Amino acid sequence: MGKDLPEHKNPFYFVSKTDRRDFLKICLTAAASIGLSATAGVRIAEAAAAGVLRPSVIWLHFQECTGCTETLLRSSHPDVGKLILEMISLDYHETLLAASGYQAEAALHETMEARKGEYILVVEGSIPTKDGGVYCKIAGKTAMDSLAEVSKNAAAVIAIGSCASFGGLAAAEPNPTGAVGVSELVKDKAIVNIPGCPPNPYNFLGTVLQYVVLGTLPELDAELRPTFAYGRTIHEHCPRRAHFDAGRFAEKYGDDNHKQGYCLYKIGCKGPATGANCSTRNFGDTDSWPIGVGHPCIGCTEKNLLWRTALHDTVDIEHPTGPATYPPIVPEREGISPVATGVAGLVGGALIGAGVVAAKKLENKDDDNQKEV
Ligand code: SF4
Repeated sequence: MGKDLPEHKNPFYFVSKTDRRDFLKICLTAAASIGLSATAGVRIAEAAAAGVLRPSVIWLHFQECTGCTETLLRSSHPDVGKLILEMISLDYHETLLAASGYQAEAALHETMEARKGEYILVVEGSIPTKDGGVYCKIAGKTAMDSLAEVSKNAAAVIAIGSCASFGGLAAAEPNPTGAVGVSELVKDKAIVNIPGCPPNPYNFLGTVLQYVVLGTLPELDAELRPTFAYGRTIHEHCPRRAHFDAGRFAEKYGDDNHKQGYCLYKIGCKGPATGANCSTRNFGDTDSWPIGVGHPCIGCTEKNLLWRTALHDTVDIEHPTGPATYPPIVPEREGISPVATGVAGLVGGALIGAGVVAAKKLENKDDDNQKEV
């Protein structure tokens, strides 16, 4: 049944290519990544097996390093092979496409025509606008023209990576090509930004799968980022947070405190001002992520941090106290610098010992229950 249908319309295509257990596992993982329950994951699996059409995806590359595609290729829960071959129909992708030249252009235009109003456009890279956009041309067309042409009949646009979201490295001062993100140019479509340099592939997969199965796009914040992934700061769930609360900081790269795994705030960590789920959803199915290996967060998911702020600069602390549920930690140092941490003005000049920390938390208990930390 259904064997005469083209693959993208065959409701049994999913289950014919993957055994049921693997498929269920993919759906449960995807549901979890977008903040849905296991029950919802099972519903996703049932909906997919019942015949949800694979959405057509057109993926355009502009000014970028292809790191976003690379990081997607290295995801494994679900891996990109399953994503591409079973969940979506990746009809045009300049890096992965076997075809080239006129054949590739034909694939692009056939998809745009056959899936008019249905396809998802994914954009990787920023768009140069200076001098008529001459700094990035593909098939004789500027990136600006290609974006306008392909986005015109797209159902939605996903800007993957910080370059497509906010301009990225190419837009750093003095921005010689006039690079901008997708939302600066496309004004009449639903746009989802998945920033990061590179972005976490789970955030992209979760967004796509919500669209595929539920037919909706995720809730977005003011920067058009899905709140399920960018709604909380890295600092809130950082494994080094206890050291921050206790006033234990690396003072410079390679010092004893750095080797002890202390907080990286003083050497420029942007985690307190960076909305992202890196601290809870690591990259590449390992525990490896920048803060995990001793490098401060560079704020790559934030429009005004990445390439706009020096690596060593510290950011303002908006929520200086830890949650009241944190156990007290006795600091090994006398106290911390109010200038360096930005905390002292709020806690009376210094955090001296765990007793002060605990007392402060008790004082602010009511407040802490009402605000994010
Ligand atoms: Fe983690 Fe950075 Fe916050 Fe320190 S400042 S707890 S390293 S996110």
